[in-house]
Amino acid sequence: MTLSELRTQFFESLKDVYPSEETQAFFYELTGHYLQLRRIDVALKPKQEISTEVSNLFSEAISKLKRHQPIQYITGITEFFGLPFGVNEHTLIPRPETEELVEWILKDLQQQPLQHGILDIGTGSGCIAISLAKHLPKVPITALDISQEALQIATKNAVRNTVEIDFLKHDILSKTPLPKTYDIIVSNPPYVRELEKKAMHHNVLDYEPGTALFVSDSDPLLFYRKIAQVAKSHLSPKGILYFEINEYLGKEMKTLLETEGFSEIQLKKDLFGKDRMLKCRWYE
Ligand code: GLN
Repeated sequence: MTLSELRTQFFESLKDVYPSEETQAFFYELTGHYLQLRRIDVALKPKQEISTEVSNLFSEAISKLKRHQPIQYITGITEFFGLPFGVNEHTLIPRPETEELVEWILKDLQQQPLQHGILDIGTGSGCIAISLAKHLPKVPITALDISQEALQIATKNAVRNTVEIDFLKHDILSKTPLPKTYDIIVSNPPYVRELEKKAMHHNVLDYEPGTALFVSDSDPLLFYRKIAQVAKSHLSPKGILYFEINEYLGKEMKTLLETEGFSEIQLKKDLFGKDRMLKCRWYE
C-alpha cells in the first residue's frame, strides 16, 4: 500500500465521525508518529510504500478514533510548552490554558527571585512542574499526586525532558503533613462540576481520568479550600499561590481566598476570554 492509498482509506473510514480538518490533523499526527514524516513529506511522497506493520497500526488507530479515543492517548505523546510529554489514561491531556498559567508564573519570576522552591499539587503528567523546571534550572521543585500511575508517567517525563523533580505520592485531602516551605505553590486541581458534564465530549468523558477532572456539585471548591489551607503553613512570607480555576467560579474563588486570609488576589482570563487563573499572596 502507498502513502496516498493509506490517506484515502483513513479519510474514508473517518468521514462520518470527524470534520475533514480534524481527520487531516489526526493523519499528520499519526504519519509523524509512526513514519517520522514531516507534514511536507506527506504531500511530497504519495508513492512511499507503507509496510503491513504500519498499515495495521493505522487500522488500530482508526478503530480507536471511531470510539473517540483522544489522539494523544493513541500515540501516547503530546506537546506542552514546547516540550514532549508522555500521557496515558492515568493523566489528563495537558491543555493550552495551563500553558498560560506556566507563562504567568515565569513572567512573575523575572521580578522575584526564589529562595526556597516550588510545589506543584496534583501534577498528573508533570506538565506544570517540568515546564517550570526547564526554565528555572536552579530552583528545587516538588510535585505531588495521589495517583502512583500518574507519578510513573511524570517521572518518565522529567527524564525525557532532562530535569530533576522531587515527586511524591500524596493525598492533599489527607492529614499527612508535607515537608518544607515553598516560595510558590501551584495547582490545577479537579474543578469540573457534575452539572457541567453534559456539555463535555466523549473523548474527555470516556477516556480522561475522572479523578483529575470532576468535583461534586455540592462542594466544587473542596480542593481549592484544602490547598489554600495547606499553602498557609507551607508558603514562605510573601509566597504566592497560583491556581487554574473553573471559568464559572472566579467570584467564588476570590471569596474563598479572602476568607482564608490571602491578599492581592488577582484573576486572569485565558486566551478564550474565560476566568481561568488566579494568584494570591500570603503575608504571615
Ligand atoms: N480544563 C479541563 C477541562 O475542561 C479541566 C481541568 C481540571 O479539572 N483541572 O477538561
